[in-house]
Amino acid sequence: MSALTSSHVLPDIPAPCLAALGAVVGLVIGSFVTNTTIRSTRGEANLLGRSVCDHCRTPLRWSETIPMVSFLIQGGRCRTCRTQIDPIHFWGEFAGAVVLGLSASLLPLPQALAVGVLGFALLALSLIDIQTFRLPNPLVFMVLVFSGLLSVVRGEGGASLLWAAGVFIVLKVLQFILQRRSGVAALGEGDIKLMSALALWLGSSVAYAFSLASLGALVFIVLTRWKGRIPFGPFLAAGSLLTGLVVETRMLV
Ligand SMILES: [Zn+2]
Repeated sequence: MSALTSSHVLPDIPAPCLAALGAVVGLVIGSFVTNTTIRSTRGEANLLGRSVCDHCRTPLRWSETIPMVSFLIQGGRCRTCRTQIDPIHFWGEFAGAVVLGLSASLLPLPQALAVGVLGFALLALSLIDIQTFRLPNPLVFMVLVFSGLLSVVRGEGGASLLWAAGVFIVLKVLQFILQRRSGVAALGEGDIKLMSALALWLGSSVAYAFSLASLGALVFIVLTRWKGRIPFGPFLAAGSLLTGLVVETRMLV
């Protein structure tokens, strides 16, 4: 039995099978989270109803709703009106598969579930940030709760709490200085709360997460020649999840 599988609740299932199982479940949940989040940001009342084309409003057949697969088969276009489907659906589903696939294969079941919930909260926050430049408090609170749970399970609850408080104070001071110097809100309130909540999970490793997020945003700006405001939430989410998986697996060695 390998060291990787021996710590799982279901030790006889090899890591690649757990990864595949996690990825498939992650695709489905990722699709659900992406759909409901996008509908809510557009102010649609029917969050859980049958999926329709965003353009012609034709209800989708089951074969048009298979996560990632339908998008690829249809060339990213609606079968009825041939209008391009927003690729955010594809990437939301992909992110769900990666998060749950990795956590299911690398972590014991309780931690895998907690990281999964955290990952889907971060996915919803990223999608909302991309569309509205907002990070809603209830989702940030969800990140805070599961970050706290994971650090307590790791036995680092006290130290992580200090890191979260430290990050919050430093960022608030930075926000104050930037606002005094430039006269504009250069650091969003939501970003500060989310970074502090993630510091509760990552402890001292939060520096790696912020560095990865900043590097990712910089590469994105250079490659796409992006002008204007950029949503930092998706970069923060990706950097934190990557760092978090390393932090969580380190205790298994
Ligand atoms: Zn259509």
